Parts: sequence; C-alpha cells; structure tokens
Amino acid sequence: MNTNSPGCCLGESCCSTEQNDKCPVCGFTGQGVKKITVEHLVTDDNRTMVNGTDYKICMNENCDVVYYSLEMDTKFLKDRVRVPIWFKKNANPKYACYCSKVTEEQVINAVVKHGAKTVSDVNQITGAMKNSNCRENNPMGVCCHKIIQEVINKAISCTEMT
Ligand SMILES: [Zn+2]
Repeated sequence: MNTNSPGCCLGESCCSTEQNDKCPVCGFTGQGVKKITVEHLVTDDNRTMVNGTDYKICMNENCDVVYYSLEMDTKFLKDRVRVPIWFKKNANPKYACYCSKVTEEQVINAVVKHGAKTVSDVNQITGAMKNSNCRENNPMGVCCHKIIQEVINKAISCTEMT
C-alpha cells in the first residue's frame, strides 16, 4: 500500500509544480482527474495498473496519451481507454455527454434543428444528462453540463453566421 505522503521528494524533478503536471510525452500541462475516473475508463486488463492517487489527463489534442501518473510512472494511451476522448484528434464519436452517450452532433442538431438554447433544452431533446454519473463516465470526471454549454454556444454562433 502506498502511504499517504504528498507524493513528493522522491526524485530530482520533484517539488516543482510546473514540472509535476506535464505530460511525459508531449509536455503539455495536464489536468487532474480522480483515480476512480481513470479506473472506470481504462480497459479491463489495464485496471489493475491504476495505482497511486495522482492522475492527470493530457489536454493536447494531438497527443496519444490520455491518463498519466508521474508519481507511479504510468501512462494510458488512447487505445487503453474505453471511450473516445472528445477533445483528442479523430475522436469518434465525440461525446458531449458520456453518461447518456449523447454526441456533440446531437447537441448541435438540437440547437440548429430544434431551436434549443439552453442546456436544459438540449437535455430534453437529446436525453443528455439523464443518467448522470459524470465522475465515472466523463473522461475528466467533471459534469457534462459545461461541455454541452460550450457546444451550444458554438452551434448558436454558427447559426447566427449563416
Ligand atoms: Zn500528452
């Protein structure tokens, strides 16, 4: 078992928060994700490799790394994660809501074809966020609400341009 040390001062590159966050492959700064999210989303045969507590997700759309732990020196590439990561290049489908498997395209359709303007409009039309369990289903462990809102904004600004 891992003791509850803050995960620091084991190596020379340690104690510099700047370095601590970076993806070991591309060097982009990662965002923290909960271990429970990583465990839930890696493929079954990788689950036992999810050790330690401090996981990050690489936000670089061109990088194949999804989750990594600098503390444990592990990384999980796209092919070890069960769902496409919406902000990674060539994600297919691009889910806006992972809990209810609603895609970005469905959200855009709801706006363009059905006149949805708010997240709750979209939820009613698409069924998004009906079985909300974002902490486990969303790759970043955050609520889909914000992602759906961003897609709506994007779709609305597109319809206004045409
Ligand atoms: Zn990366």
